[in-house]
Amino acid sequence: MTPTFLSDLRAALGDKAVLTDPTDCARYLTDWTGAYSGEALAVLRPDSTEAVAAAVQLCAAAGVAITPQGGNTGVAGGGVPLGPKPHVLLSLDRLKRIRKVDPVARSVTVEAGCVLQHLQEAIAPEGLIYPLMFGARGSCTIGGNLSTNAGGSNVLRFGNARALCLGIEAVMADGSIVSDLSGLRKDNTGYDLRDLMIGAEGTLGIITAACLRLFPAPVARATAFLALPDVASALIVLNRLQDASGGLVEAFEYMPAPMMRQICAHHHQRGPFAEAVETGILLELTSTRPDDAAPDAEGTPRLQALVMEVLAGLMEDGLVEDAVIAASEAQRDAFWALREGAAEAIFALNGTYMFDMSLPLAAVPEFVTETDAESRALGFEVYTVAHLGDGNLHYTLAAGAGQNWGDLPVEAQVARILDRVAALGGSFSAEHGIGQAKLPYMPKYRAEPRLATMRAIKQALDPQGLFNPGKTIP
Ligand SMILES: Cc1cc2nc3c(=O)[nH]c(=O)nc-3n(C[C@H](O)[C@H](O)[C@H](O)COP(=O)(O)OP(=O)(O)OC[C@H]3O[C@@H](n4cnc5c(N)ncnc54)[C@H](O)[C@@H]3O)c2cc1C
Repeated sequence: MTPTFLSDLRAALGDKAVLTDPTDCARYLTDWTGAYSGEALAVLRPDSTEAVAAAVQLCAAAGVAITPQGGNTGVAGGGVPLGPKPHVLLSLDRLKRIRKVDPVARSVTVEAGCVLQHLQEAIAPEGLIYPLMFGARGSCTIGGNLSTNAGGSNVLRFGNARALCLGIEAVMADGSIVSDLSGLRKDNTGYDLRDLMIGAEGTLGIITAACLRLFPAPVARATAFLALPDVASALIVLNRLQDASGGLVEAFEYMPAPMMRQICAHHHQRGPFAEAVETGILLELTSTRPDDAAPDAEGTPRLQALVMEVLAGLMEDGLVEDAVIAASEAQRDAFWALREGAAEAIFALNGTYMFDMSLPLAAVPEFVTETDAESRALGFEVYTVAHLGDGNLHYTLAAGAGQNWGDLPVEAQVARILDRVAALGGSFSAEHGIGQAKLPYMPKYRAEPRLATMRAIKQALDPQGLFNPGKTIP
């Protein structure tokens, strides 16, 4: 590292953009979970793409590694520095402008540090939505969402962050700027650099802006909590609702009894039913058709009436035991507050192992039945909250009543569960990424040719290994 490194950065970015005081830096250097901390020579807060490029050039010349960071809500330890190399942490939190909203093309060009919820609020007056939806939306950023290929509760209908992105602008390891913000829906001119950057967790470049797809805001909604006999029934219920509504199901979230009790206890909230139900599902359908918002003969909005009719048929068939339909926006908000409070409720538990797995849908019922029973027999409690429609289970092992976490066979049970996920054709990381947390599993569960290809891409785009070293690629 050159002796003038920090003063060169100050000259290029301005004094305010280079933090070195430990108190100022602290909040950037420990992640949201509190489990991962790192060290950095400085925290950089550039306010333009050109300033990011200048910072990268100076770091490349000095051999200093760079960890990009957005809202620091990642839960895989990807956003804090790791390893022996001298580091800077480069926060995108000042690069947050909405550059252009295009209501005709239904797209928006936005800088990477824009907080997801701020983007959503800014486009609402246009009658448009950017549908990515999850509990951290008040803090996470567009750049972080793309870098982790974030999912959330409506992937079922709109796809994950990758599916919502039309193009990106990024700073590469030599400080050059690659820009593809045209918003074209079709552009087959060689390798898709957008797709390389998405999900790369900051290991290939720094995303500085993106062009994103927007959708018309729904005018009708039906939100319900269901009590079902089991997970196998839930999958039938999902398909029956999809068929009857023409694919309007936007969310289908599994929240079984232990999870619901923990959420209610942690957030001092009441559940939708008097007692937590074994197989609870939060579902939502939305429609942009005015007809679906119009009342039927009984005064019930048509979409809601349709859902009630389908649920009545499902009850007759024994596939639904009970249902509560949100009768107001306030009740809908209360349902969603339960779902979105799940992550905090889980992180509040002492001693846990959290899986973020995905499985082929058909394998989910067998997996849940077997793994819940097996884990409980070993003394664990199981807390599951799942984007069930995507086969994505946030599956957490904790100590059961009267058990001490340290005495439980954690390592063996985690290994058994990961092996089962692999045997069923699933993934050990569905939406949170690899970061540092899941890195040890890559060599075991991902084939060497795939890892070798990842290393070759990394070597080609970042030959000095400066971007987020120690993450994602074993
Ligand atoms: C309460 C809660 C609920 C959550 N629910 C979900 C959920 O339902 N679905 C889901 O997918 N995730 C969820 N997450 C995880 C997290 O919010 C997402 O991964 C989110 O996309 C991270 O965005 P961020 O801006 O906070 O990124 P950060 O945490 O700052 O960074 C995440 C990774 O991206 C890299 N990165 C960040 N910005 C850039 C950039 N501009 N260019 C290049 N690399 C960059 C970082 O280096 C790091 O590797 C949840 C987290 C919390 C705390």
